[in-house]
Amino acid sequence: MKPRHVLGISGGKDSAALAIYLRTKYPELDLEYYTCDTGKELDETYQLIDNLEVFLGKKILKLRAVENSPEDPFDHYLKIYGGYLPSSGSRWCTKKLKLDPFEQFVGTTPVVSYVGIRGDEDREGYISKKTNIQSIFPFRKNIWSEDVVTKALSNSNLPNILDLYTSIELEDRSSRFESLLRQPVDMSFLLSKKLDMLLDVHTKDLNRLVFSWLKQTSYPLADEEFFPLIENDEILVRADIFRLLEESGVGVPAYYKQIEFEVKQLKGTYSRSRSGCYFCFFQQKIEWVWLFEQHPDRFWKAVEYEKDGYTWNQEERLIDLIEPSRMQRIKEDYLKKSTSNSPNSPFLLDTIGEEEGAGCAACFV
Ligand code: SF4
Repeated sequence: MKPRHVLGISGGKDSAALAIYLRTKYPELDLEYYTCDTGKELDETYQLIDNLEVFLGKKILKLRAVENSPEDPFDHYLKIYGGYLPSSGSRWCTKKLKLDPFEQFVGTTPVVSYVGIRGDEDREGYISKKTNIQSIFPFRKNIWSEDVVTKALSNSNLPNILDLYTSIELEDRSSRFESLLRQPVDMSFLLSKKLDMLLDVHTKDLNRLVFSWLKQTSYPLADEEFFPLIENDEILVRADIFRLLEESGVGVPAYYKQIEFEVKQLKGTYSRSRSGCYFCFFQQKIEWVWLFEQHPDRFWKAVEYEKDGYTWNQEERLIDLIEPSRMQRIKEDYLKKSTSNSPNSPFLLDTIGEEEGAGCAACFV
């Protein structure tokens, strides 16, 4: 059965840029777009999704974890969890509001899912355990998921992959590529190293080889005769993402816009660095200050959730965070951190103190 091809729009810059990139470069891919709506996104996120729909000329399906509830999905589940706010250690929100609706949407049909993790990131993102879902990472040099390359390049598959190597059409049969392929992995030659070196020698040929191997498996791509992304050896990094968004007319999500602030006669800029719920517990202190100053209505709604000892931050309540002296210190610390970094990106906050690997790949890609 031919697989479906799906792309999840998180409301963040990278997944939006991926939709633009694939639509422009691979219009032949019949992609289904979806987004998981928690009901708690910023208006800017909904605006981005609207802009993207116009660019794509196609609807982005809005998946909601619950239908027919008087509350939005987040509030519905919060009630079920007895007011227990999600946290980095207990991310019921990701599972209930993002992953479950996605898996339900996909069902049991084979699916190729495109993920916008960039070439300058070192993370794998959410990989569904469901065997009918195969993830592809078009922005990275290695477009394949970890499980695929681990099986394809394992020592036990070596005779098989060498057979395939001799029987399929490749662009450049260099002795370097072949000797790397023949070399078994061990403690001094890890599989990740073998993969990197093969990709460096010839990305497209490695892709052709992996794709041929997939045809012997039950992965969703086994049933595709041709997969255009095997011919892709581009690597896209942060600056490319902003360029794609600007040039397409979709625009960078407005919450990235740098806004000036002043503290103790020093000037700085702040913004929000990620998509996701306005009260997301992954945000930095300066982002809470940004929310308070730029979206006070949302900030006060976030405050309303803090009751019965539950707080969004482990160490302080939001009401304490906006004490004038505390906000001043947060801004000062943030400025200090900014000047001790020298990021190339004009989106300063986007590169400071933020571990993109942390958090929720379903929300922040
Ligand atoms: S954005 Fe944050 S709060 Fe919202 S679902 Fe994702 S992890 Fe949970």
